[in-house]
Amino acid sequence: MSNNLDRDIKEAADMLRNSNFTTAYTGAGISVESGIPPFRGEEGLWNKYDPSYLELNFFLSQPEKSWKVIKQIFYDFFDDAKPNAAHLALAKMEKQGMLSRIITQNIDNLHQEAGSTKVYEFHGNSMKLVCLACSRVFPHGEISLDHLPPHCPDCQGLLKPDFIFFGEAIPQEPLAAAYEAASKSDVFLVIGTTGEVMPANQIPPLAKQNGAKIIEVNPEASNYTSRITDLLLKGKAGEVMTKLEKELFSAPLHDD
Ligand code: NAD
Repeated sequence: MSNNLDRDIKEAADMLRNSNFTTAYTGAGISVESGIPPFRGEEGLWNKYDPSYLELNFFLSQPEKSWKVIKQIFYDFFDDAKPNAAHLALAKMEKQGMLSRIITQNIDNLHQEAGSTKVYEFHGNSMKLVCLACSRVFPHGEISLDHLPPHCPDCQGLLKPDFIFFGEAIPQEPLAAAYEAASKSDVFLVIGTTGEVMPANQIPPLAKQNGAKIIEVNPEASNYTSRITDLLLKGKAGEVMTKLEKELFSAPLHDD
């Protein structure tokens, strides 16, 4: 695998142009340049917070404690975050018919904010809160987090962020979309993920097994790099995707 980024970008652009069905598979790394830290690595959230606060059983038994940490991790960081060049490049690729769908592990809503429409969220979305008693879903902006835990305005049941906690099953719709994408993609563009989180991490290897070419964007080697990656675009998602977008369309979307 070479480390000549410009040459690799050209090769990636050719692979994308020749692909009939391309899937982007994204993780926390794509949102790092939007100011949201990943879970793992030096600046990762797990160096600061105990992951057990995000276990379903912990949440159900101590919702106030769990919510305090959830608010700090997700709502304080996420509220100010804006899509970066990588999110925008993927949205442009979709618009130009070069990207069939996005399978994301992220819960930050930034793909949708960038304009992508075919987004399947493996781990749910933090911008919605769900009542564990009556199942009503509320936009996060409608619910005050001044007093924790928040309760349902209708039935007073406990509200939970509508993302997947450790110990919860992956929702059917994104699961089906991911398996379908893994069965028919010619190219899988894997951006900013360590590939450590089960069962989401099984999707790119399945795509590879079914014949997809794997293009990976990451400043570091991941669990996939030496196992399944055909072409590593080594670098930060925003920088690499800006170059790739230029190569594909000759002018970046955000200047439109
Ligand atoms: P991770 O935290 O395990 O790993 C982050 C990956 O991103 C690493 O491979 C790292 O090298 C790479 N990375 C760091 N900076 C990057 C950059 N600028 N550009 C591209 N890549 C970069 O992330 P994961 O594999 O997605 O798994 C973590 C889980 O945590 C996911 O399931 C996700 O749901 C959740 N999570 C989501 C968010 C979010 O929604 N933004 C943030 C933190 C964690």
